Amino acid sequence: MKKPRKILLVIALVLLGIYFLATAIVPQKLDKKFNTVTISAPYTASKRTQELYNSLDFVADLHCDALLWKRDLLEKHDYGSVDIPRMLAVNMGIQGFTIVTKAPKNMNFDSNTGETDQITLPFILQGRPFPSWFDLTERAIAQCDALHDFEEESNGSFRVIKSAADMRQYVSDRKQTNDITAGFLGIEGMHALSGKLENVDRLYDAGVRMMAPVHFFDNKLGGSAHGVSKAGLTDFGVEVIKKMQQKRMIVDVTHSSPKLLDDIFEITTRPVVSSHTGVQGICETVRNLSDKHLKKIAASGGLIGIAMFEPATCGNTPASTAKAIKYCIDLVGSDYVALGSDFDGAIEIHTDVTGMPLYVEAMLNLSISENDIRKVMGGNVKRFLLENLP
Ligand SMILES: [Zn+2]
Repeated sequence: MKKPRKILLVIALVLLGIYFLATAIVPQKLDKKFNTVTISAPYTASKRTQELYNSLDFVADLHCDALLWKRDLLEKHDYGSVDIPRMLAVNMGIQGFTIVTKAPKNMNFDSNTGETDQITLPFILQGRPFPSWFDLTERAIAQCDALHDFEEESNGSFRVIKSAADMRQYVSDRKQTNDITAGFLGIEGMHALSGKLENVDRLYDAGVRMMAPVHFFDNKLGGSAHGVSKAGLTDFGVEVIKKMQQKRMIVDVTHSSPKLLDDIFEITTRPVVSSHTGVQGICETVRNLSDKHLKKIAASGGLIGIAMFEPATCGNTPASTAKAIKYCIDLVGSDYVALGSDFDGAIEIHTDVTGMPLYVEAMLNLSISENDIRKVMGGNVKRFLLENLP
């Protein structure tokens, strides 16, 4: 080999070595840095709370971003919000795994453009499949595949729910054992379609059953609550929503601008969900839902998933989440209220998943009835998925 060639080869090998070293170190560092808790585990609840908690069929939560971090969800971790062993430890039976594909730099609630992206570099450094580095649809599919890989490697302790039939089987199996848990796939931000209607089919085929039109910036479907235009649905957005509903995919309105919300309710014929929200009635920010839109979700037969972090609940304890839950129950009734933590959403969450009993305690402290607590903690999500999945 000639000398210059040899030098080039050495440089390439060194760079490759640095890359593999980074993939071993960086993902965990980012995960620990961005996903923190206000109240650390272990959590203890009163005897009355624990008795009620232990009598729940199972707990369900509509939203987490755990797939973003390349954490091995089959292993128990002492960081991050959620993994399968911790889900099993607290009888968490259904978790919505909701995929993020693009997030602008300096993310804020008021005004973001889609010009920058904070996900590309972490995705490269996580050693994700090459096609997912620069293509948002591939980036979503890589996260879907990761959840299916966990299912495959879980020895039957974890399943991905994709249909009402899956859900019926799961509920029936759950009557025999609590040693199984499950999740379903969602997406926040349909820039993951890369502007193509046919990618609805690709994402459906990859297992996605719930999608939110927008995330933190405006896209081809319409305006985000945190975007620049605050626009409604575009013609493309209308086409996508119609196609989703034909396929019985669930429309998630979290992060939509008020105009986008109005436009969605104008055309939807099926139940609409907000997977992780707060309520403007007690925490007035643009990310939270107004009474008008909460009522529209209930009228559609949908679900309002209440989040578990300060900017959504204007408080940093489970009590603040319970307060928003009570507000919704008083406004629209208990059949439409659920949990939508935003676990692992690059935020400081009140507690990790093992803190679930504390939310029951906080609801009891607000004199929410045991029957209503059962619905909010998981009963409503169970019913909703049985009735609305394909
Ligand atoms: Zn979100």
